[in-house]
Formats: sequence, C-alpha cells, structure tokens
Amino acid sequence: MRGLHWFRNDLRLDDNQALAALTERVDEWLPVFVLDSELLARSPVGLPRTRFLLDCLESLRTDLAARGVPLQVLEGRPELVIPRLARATGSGLVSWNGAATPIGRRRDALVAEKLRRAGVETVSRRDHTVFGPEEIRTKTGGSYSVYTPYKNAWWAAWHREPRAVLRQSPRLPPPIPGFEARDRSALAQISLGPIAQAGTTPRLPRGGEKAARRRLATFLAKSVACYAIDRDRPDRDGTSRLSPYLRFGAISIRRCVSEALRVAREEPSAKAGIGKWLDELVWREFYYGVLAHSPHVLTRSFRPEYDALAWIDDDEAFEAWKVGRTGYPFVDAAMRQLRATGWMHNRARMVVASFLTKDLLIDWRRGERYFFDALVDGDPASNNGGWQWAASTGTDAQPYFRIFNPVAQGERWDPEGRYVRRWVPELRGLASDRIHAPWLHGDPPRGYPHPIVDHGMARDRALAAYRKARQSASSSRTRSSR
Ligand code: FAD
Repeated sequence: MRGLHWFRNDLRLDDNQALAALTERVDEWLPVFVLDSELLARSPVGLPRTRFLLDCLESLRTDLAARGVPLQVLEGRPELVIPRLARATGSGLVSWNGAATPIGRRRDALVAEKLRRAGVETVSRRDHTVFGPEEIRTKTGGSYSVYTPYKNAWWAAWHREPRAVLRQSPRLPPPIPGFEARDRSALAQISLGPIAQAGTTPRLPRGGEKAARRRLATFLAKSVACYAIDRDRPDRDGTSRLSPYLRFGAISIRRCVSEALRVAREEPSAKAGIGKWLDELVWREFYYGVLAHSPHVLTRSFRPEYDALAWIDDDEAFEAWKVGRTGYPFVDAAMRQLRATGWMHNRARMVVASFLTKDLLIDWRRGERYFFDALVDGDPASNNGGWQWAASTGTDAQPYFRIFNPVAQGERWDPEGRYVRRWVPELRGLASDRIHAPWLHGDPPRGYPHPIVDHGMARDRALAAYRKARQSASSSRTRSSR
C-alpha cells in the first residue's frame, strides 16, 4: 500500500507518533507539508513564527533527503491539496498527528471527511501533548479550571501510564517514485513572497530537530539545576528556550519529559530544578485543556464577569507599549527584546501583560494579538492562557487586585539592571539603584521618555474598573435569578 504523512506541528522524525503508525503499514510513501494559503494571507506580520517554521521545514527537508525521501511542500487549502495528492499518488492511507486547537480540529475533520469520501483511510495520533484534554478529568468527569489539581491529576495519569518515547526513529519505506523535492531556494520563494514585506527581521534561533535536541541537552546539562531560582531572572540565561521548537513539534514533548526524568534520576542535585521545569510543561498542557473545554476564551474572558470591563482605547499608549517607550525600563526592555528576537522571558511577559491590561487598562485581546504575531513561539493556547492570567480574566488567574508594580518587578528580578541595559541603550549609563525608575532621580537620559502613566493612579483606576465590572455582573445575576 502507498501512503502520505501530512506534517504539521510535528516537524521531526524522532518520536513522531502518526509517522511511525504510517510507516509500519505502507510499502511506499511521501511526506507532505501544506502552506495554508488562507493562514499565510491573514497573518503577514506573523513574520518570526513563519520564518522559524520555514527553517524547521528546511531542516526536515534535509533530514528526509538524507534518507532519500523528497518532502513535498505544497500551497493551498489542506482539504483540497491533501485529497488531490492522495489521488495523484494512489495512496490508500494518510496519517497526521491530531491538532491541539479547535480551529485545527475542524480543519482535520474536513480533510478526513474528504478523504473518507474518496475511499482513503486515515490514521491520526496524539503527539503534540502527552495527554489529551479528555484524558485528564476530575473525579466527576469534568474539566479542570485550576492548575494545581490538574497537575496532580496529570502526574497521577503519568504514573498509571507513562507515555514512553518511541524507541527509535521510524524505519522509512522508500518514497513513491516520480516526485521530486523542492530545493532550498524554491522553498524560500514559496513562502517569502507574501510575507517578505512584513518589516523588521528579528534575530531568531536556528530551527529544526537537531537544534532542538542540542538545546534540550545543553539545558539539562548546564542550566536545569538552577532553574528553580533562575527561571524568574530575565537577566540570566536560565530557561530552556524550547518554546518555539515545542510550538512546531521540532522536539517531542515526551522526549522532553523522559530526558528530564532520566537526568533527575542520575543527578539528584538537579531534581528540584527539573521538578519545576516539568511543572511548566504541564502548564502548557493545562492551557490546551482550557482551550479545548472552553473555546470561548479565544474571543471572550474565561470569567464572564469581566466581559463588561470598560477597557480604554488608547492607541498612542498601545503604540508606546509595543515599541518599548512607556518610560518604565523593565517593560521597555522586555518589549524591545520581543521586537529584536521574537521571544520574551516569561517573567517579562507577565509584567508587560499586566502593565498593558492594568496600568494602561487596554483590552487583553489587543496584547494577545500583538504577541501572537510578534512571538516566534506564538501559540493560541499558552498565549491566551498567559494573557487571561495576567488580566485576571482567566482560569486560575492572578487575582484582579494583584497588580504588578513595574518598578518593583524590575528591581526584584533584574537587580543589577543588566536586562534593562542590554535592551534599552539610552539607560546604559545609569547605576543599578536608578535604572528601574530614572525619573525619580531627575530627568531621564536624553531620548528616553518619562512614564506615560503614573503607576499609583493607574492601579486605583484598574481596581475601580475591575470592581465595577464584578458588581455589574453580580447585580445582573441577581436580577436574572429573581
Ligand atoms: P521554560 O521555562 O524552559 O519552560 C519549558 C516549556 O514549558 C516552555 O518552552 C513552554 O512550552 C512551557 N511553558 C513554560 N511556561 C509556561 C506557561 N506559563 N504557560 C504555558 N506553557 C509554559 N508560551 C508559548 O509557548 N507560546 C506563547 O504564545 C506564550 N505566550 C505567553 C503570553 C503571556 C502573556 C505569558 C505570561 C506567557 C506566555 N507563554 C507562552 C508562556 C511562557 O512565557 C513561555 O512558554 C516561556 O517563556 C518560553 O520560554 P522557555 O522555552 O525558555 O520556557
């Protein structure tokens, strides 16, 4: 039998569940990736993510070519392209790893239906997460909206049935004859056409499976032992930076978990750091669960009482936030790091998201959208989860009355001001005890703005707005229960 494997967010050969299921059954095959024309047209500013994706694709193309298999990169709508290729190749089986988002699942159902009608069998596996949303349930069969009990249930499921890494890369059958791979330049042309005008080009990490595996190995060997302390320090290189690779499946999540557990067994001193790191991987799965069970979070607050929040439409302030000119050095350093590299440290993400939603009282959806486009790891579930956490509108979120002070956060997590100096050159000459609030010591250095908002005033304004939204939700609930 002949078959196709449709690569999506699983751009690797190692521990690829659906690919392994296909290659066990077919005599000849072809791998295919579809650049979804509609998605590309809709997000021309998604430059970092798209460029990283192309780099991962290029790396996959090379790995497959080394095994004599030509990757087909096609453009169009998957529900048209995949059945057409199945017909052209005489394939009786098409495999893919299941999507982790509602939009992806709808697209998959459409493709599956078209293939079924054409008499082509499909095989789909869970790959992007260790457990699926339907596997981690409360005792009464419901879904979790609080992280800690979710995490406990996740680990209970793992201990009951650990999800092992497939022992070896799949044995790849020969390719279906008559199909050439596109060479590197053709791949670049396909994709860069509509996206090239998108503007600045951040310095991105190297894409692909090898780069991902190297990064995991280096992180586990050098940084994980201090992770519990360093993970909150944007001035240190203390986190794995695996998020873009996990986003596109250039590394397997099971590989990450199992390698980390192996290091914990071998290196007792790394145990605490590894425990913390694994908790973060579980957060990622928690947010996929939230999105699956409550897809409304993509457009509305998880907590409906905050749908009535009176956000402020301040384009000028939003622009200052985007370009890193709010006058708060820690916030500005983070926003400039994002522009320059397509990535931002987690602590900094929390602080800038809090600043936008609470200090500027700008709708979290605007920040979420900007992040999604600017981040190389932009992911619908984690990005939405992070924004709704910071805005206090989400599951297990920061309580609304906890509002980060952007100066105190800088002083605490960047005590010597190294992070600020790295990304905000105007402030390089300032001493550590002044760098997080330059305006308190005279005028800020030339070219650097005064704060665009007073934090004390903004805090009171946010508390009032959140309280008002809660009150109006509770009085409308009382009215409707009468
Ligand atoms: P590490 O600290 O090494 O963690 C390992 C992995 O665990 C990460 O690669 C990631 O997959 C996962 N992880 C870590 N922290 C979180 C978290 N808080 N929530 C969910 N998963 C987590 N992460 C994304 O992958 N894509 C996003 O679009 C995204 N948007 C965010 C927006 C906001 C406002 C906030 C507060 C957080 C967001 N995060 C997002 C989560 C987190 O900031 C990043 O995953 C992390 O900074 C990536 O760096 P790392 O790989 O070095 O993480």
